[in-house]
Amino acid sequence: MVKNIISLVVRKVPRKYLQLFSHHVLKVAAIFYTGNRVQCPVCDSHFRKFLPYGRKARENALCPNCLALERHRLMWLFLQRKTPFFTKPLRVLHIAPELCFIHRFEQQPNLDYTTADIESPLAKVKMDVHQIPFPEGSFDVVFCNHVLEHVADDGLAMREIRRVLKPGGWGILQIPLFYPLKDTTFEDPSITDPREREKPTDRTIMYASTAKIIPSGCARPAFGLRKTGWCGS
Ligand SMILES: [Zn+2]
Repeated sequence: MVKNIISLVVRKVPRKYLQLFSHHVLKVAAIFYTGNRVQCPVCDSHFRKFLPYGRKARENALCPNCLALERHRLMWLFLQRKTPFFTKPLRVLHIAPELCFIHRFEQQPNLDYTTADIESPLAKVKMDVHQIPFPEGSFDVVFCNHVLEHVADDGLAMREIRRVLKPGGWGILQIPLFYPLKDTTFEDPSITDPREREKPTDRTIMYASTAKIIPSGCARPAFGLRKTGWCGS
């Protein structure tokens, strides 16, 4: 029942409205998920389980308190355990900022934190990732999660992100992967309507496995990549 409702809402309500209102609705849902079987590292809350989430809703995904999904919890743990993100003075650009992070990153005294997006009401700077309105070498860190698969030119977007990073800067650019993984990255440049690009079944880009992204050219124009093995499978 909950799964079907969430699946319907995710499919029908545009993401920018979801970002604004879902937080309040899920606070009520959290009452029915009290328990100690799972812990969200982002907000340190405990629940019986996480809420289902997705267009085809998957179980145990969404934190009812802070709205973190699996990938947000993974990113939080990675930042905590493998980077100086929470201690070192850093200038951070967060493109398409996720609600579960914004307030927490803004509160970090070591961070000079800027949110940006082309349409998200949560972002302070309105910008197109193809043309980032900051000078070269402006940021120590850039986050840009689940954006590249929707944009017209992901190579240009990555070069722009690289341009605004300081020498030695780093970024987290998460993309969705669909299993079974394709051998090559699929791209359909004929899909130009932003609403169509939002649909996961009609993405402009469906990435191949990480190992295949580099030879296929997606990451090649912009970044050196380092395999950490930290995420396991
Ligand atoms: Zn949480």
